[in-house]
Amino acid sequence: MYCPQCGKEYASGSNFCCQCGASLGATVRSQRKLTRSRRDEKIAGVCGGVAEYLEVDSTLIRLIWLAAALLVGWGVIAYLIAWIAIPQEPETQPATAEPSSARPAPASNS
Ligand SMILES: [Zn+2]
Repeated sequence: MYCPQCGKEYASGSNFCCQCGASLGATVRSQRKLTRSRRDEKIAGVCGGVAEYLEVDSTLIRLIWLAAALLVGWGVIAYLIAWIAIPQEPETQPATAEPSSARPAPASNS
């Protein structure tokens, strides 16, 4: 690897350039946290959260998970474990909106 500032070559274990002090951590990525999704939620948001974490389609995760549940039998238990173990995604919107449980009933049922 090379220093992005001064171009000095380093072995791939170095974190900082000793010449200019630039960070060589090119592989450092922003830490993603595995959370249960609020936006992509069918039961508990586990599949949606996993899909967001892996950056894949959540439908794919659900299909794999369902297939595993049906074929192998551990999918349901794994889902329950994930439900308990994975924290829910923090709410992004302020809690000023009306609670979702108090949805207004349709005025007319025609
Ligand atoms: Zn440097």
